Amino acid sequence: MPPSDAKTLPREVDVAVVGGGPAGLAAATRLRERGIGSVAVLDRESEAGGIPRHCGHYPFGMREFHRVLRGPDYARRLVARAESAGVDLYLSTTVVGIAPGPRLTLSTNAGKEDLAARRVLLATGVRETSRAARFIGGDRPPGVITTGALQSMVYLHGKRPFASPVILGSELVSFSAILTCRHAGIRPAAMVEPGARVTARQIAEALPRLFGIPLHLETELAAIHGRERVEGVTLRRADGHEWTVETDGVIVTGAFTPEATLARLSHLALDVTGDGGSGGPIVDQFGRCSDPAFFAAGNLLRPVETAGWSWREGVAAGDVLADSLAGRLPHAERFVAVTAGHPAIRLALPQHLALPSSSKGPGGMAHIQLRLARAVRGGLTLSDGEQILWAREIDGLPERRILVPLAGIAGKIRGNHLILSIAERA
Ligand SMILES: Cc1cc2nc3c(=O)[nH]c(=O)nc-3n(C[C@H](O)[C@H](O)[C@H](O)COP(=O)(O)OP(=O)(O)OC[C@H]3O[C@@H](n4cnc5c(N)ncnc54)[C@H](O)[C@@H]3O)c2cc1C
Repeated sequence: MPPSDAKTLPREVDVAVVGGGPAGLAAATRLRERGIGSVAVLDRESEAGGIPRHCGHYPFGMREFHRVLRGPDYARRLVARAESAGVDLYLSTTVVGIAPGPRLTLSTNAGKEDLAARRVLLATGVRETSRAARFIGGDRPPGVITTGALQSMVYLHGKRPFASPVILGSELVSFSAILTCRHAGIRPAAMVEPGARVTARQIAEALPRLFGIPLHLETELAAIHGRERVEGVTLRRADGHEWTVETDGVIVTGAFTPEATLARLSHLALDVTGDGGSGGPIVDQFGRCSDPAFFAAGNLLRPVETAGWSWREGVAAGDVLADSLAGRLPHAERFVAVTAGHPAIRLALPQHLALPSSSKGPGGMAHIQLRLARAVRGGLTLSDGEQILWAREIDGLPERRILVPLAGIAGKIRGNHLILSIAERA
């Protein structure tokens, strides 16, 4: 069989999926299972599989394959499943433009190409923000990298960029950094978290202690020192106390942003408001964008979820796209905007609901997903301005998933707004 990136691109497909990570592959596979004729997955990398290809550690695949896999094995299985379902993969193929039609402009080894599709699914994932974007002071030596760069060096190129780095951040991916370090025989000198608590869920919280890595909460990375390479960092506690740690590298983890370049340069509406918003396209509960021939799924929708969650969103997107092609998505009689009524709510997804009729459920996503900008304790409510439709106590941290169920709510909404508020407790 010729390598997939040597395939000739057709001029038109039923569905073009941009991004061959867990979300894109799951959606494409589901579309073929639903009988959709031509489904093309386009990925700029020379192999499909997305971020898990770089995560040489466990645990991936419990939902999808009912077993615990390393990231690359998981990615290979997703690809194999898609190919055996009849999905066409076009690799080393970067989508550089999207336009109404839908039409896509691609950059391939053969040059610029155009593709028409009846529907497009955007599943381009997230990226980490760099050191520059995090305003870390001090010198600029090499050896300051993101988790993604570390994983690519260690797992894809067999490199060991440093021996004893400091890890900045404590969300899920920071722990992915710890596991990657262990794989390469790297012993982190410290883990530094500006917040008062570890951001990741409990299971990851035990890792630094387990591996003997000093964890400094309420501490910032004030400056990096060294010219030819990193030699040390200055850490600053919330009370102003500063001290220096000897280290030969810094792993800047997390602070994700959706890989929304394509959407940003297109006609699609984006959810970007000051410091808030998802950073991805504005969608309704079907993941349908402001142009209803375009849909989005996976981490492009919001930073950041696990592979399993993104995969599940992809499967759901496959069903929605198949229904859309068959003209079976419910007709929207009214639109209800979902808005954040408290500054600590960084994003709410979907950004609006397209409701079929007052008596029917909304269909599509089962929940509104929230993310916080900072740690908050208090009463979270969902109201329509006249009545509270749902309420729960939260003890939330940034990056952690908070879900507000949609079932049973749609039929009760008066007006065109849903407002998420928090009555904060100290
Ligand atoms: C550094 C890092 C480490 C992580 N570690 C873990 C972990 O250990 N466990 C976990 O569960 N989750 C982890 N995650 C979260 C990860 O995002 C999800 O696991 C999952 O990969 C999301 O799937 P996705 O399909 O939405 O996006 P991705 O897996 O990011 O896939 C997106 C795909 O889109 C392609 N693409 C982007 N733009 C274009 C374009 N213009 N044209 C063509 N192709 C394009 C990319 O090449 C990529 O293959 C990590 C994330 C990062 C950034």
